[in-house]
Amino acid sequence: MLSKVLDKSTCADCRFCCSFRRCSLWETPLFPEETMNRLSEADRGAVFVKHENDGKIYGQMDLTGCYRTQDSEEEAPCAFLDPDKGCMLSDEDKPFDCKIWPLRIMKKSGDNKCVIALTPTCPAINKVPLEKMKELVQEELGEKIYAYAKEHPYIVKEYREGFPVLMEKN
Ligand code: SF4
Repeated sequence: MLSKVLDKSTCADCRFCCSFRRCSLWETPLFPEETMNRLSEADRGAVFVKHENDGKIYGQMDLTGCYRTQDSEEEAPCAFLDPDKGCMLSDEDKPFDCKIWPLRIMKKSGDNKCVIALTPTCPAINKVPLEKMKELVQEELGEKIYAYAKEHPYIVKEYREGFPVLMEKN
């Protein structure tokens, strides 16, 4: 979805967003119930934690058993990351959160507004002017993200300081 500003080969070489330190476990991929069930049955080595939000069941990838040391900086790769080929999931199974990375839909606690914000740690997107990202979100991607979040409210994360806001809506 971000091919206008992120080159596929840049993401393929980087894969920063497909590995997770312990402090980033809140960011592991979220799967709609039917996708989680299908991938579980196919036994592709992923462990999911089942959650419910607003009546919707979803699964979050659980990597807590994948760390070999106590080093908080150690990274654990997503179970669907092939070190040579990248993400092994089909477009149908790939989580929406992964498709819109480094965009995130977030809510400040006590606020009715949902914002679309930029994850500041993506190494590639930091080279794209913020105004260009705002334009892309406000004119093209924002409404798609709000529409998906309406159907899948669990993708809305708590707002974190330092994430530049590109769009906001009640
Ligand atoms: S599901 Fe695919 S794109 Fe998402 S974190 Fe895992 S390997 Fe990366």
